Amino acid sequence: MKYVLLVLVIGVAVSVTIELTRSLRTYFKFRGKRIISCPENYQPAAVRVAAGNAAVETTLRAPHLHLSECSRWPEKEGCGQECLAQIQEAPRACLVSTIVNQWYAGQSCVYCHKAFGQIHWHDHPPALVDPLRKTLQWNEIPLENLQQTMATHWPVCWNCHIAETFRREHPELVTNRPAH
Ligand SMILES: [Zn+2]
Repeated sequence: MKYVLLVLVIGVAVSVTIELTRSLRTYFKFRGKRIISCPENYQPAAVRVAAGNAAVETTLRAPHLHLSECSRWPEKEGCGQECLAQIQEAPRACLVSTIVNQWYAGQSCVYCHKAFGQIHWHDHPPALVDPLRKTLQWNEIPLENLQQTMATHWPVCWNCHIAETFRREHPELVTNRPAH
C-alpha cells in the first residue's frame, strides 16, 4: 500500500513538472514586445502577446494566442488580430530586443567609437542620438517607430549618453578642454 502511494505521488509530481515546463516554455516564447506589420494598413505596430494566458492554456490544450497590447489600440481594438500569424511563424525575429540587438551588433558608439559587443539591458543600456544630436534612451522612442528610428538615429553607449545629457542640460558647468 505504501509503495502504491509512493508511485502515485511520484507519477503526479512528474506530470505536474512536465505541464509546468510546457507552460513556462510557452510563456518565455511569447513574452515581450514585438514589432509586426499590421495586415490592415501594412505599417509597423508594436504589440504584446498575452503570454501569461497562453501559458495557462498550454496546460489544458493548444494555446489560443491573443494580444494584450497593440499600439493601434483603442482605435483598432476590435480587429481580428491577424498579425498573430507573423508572431507564430517567427516568434524571436519580431521581438523588439532581437531587432534592437541586431542593430547594435558590429556597431560602435558615434562619440567614443567603442564597439558595443554583448548588450546588457539591465545594466547601463546603450542609447541613441537623433539628427539634432540629442541622445535618447529606448524607452523614449514609440516602438511602432522602431524601424524608422533605427534608420535616422545613431548608436551611443551609456557613458556617452550620460555625458551628453549632462552637457546639454548644464552647459554652464561644462568646460571643453582641447585634446592634447
Ligand atoms: Zn561612447
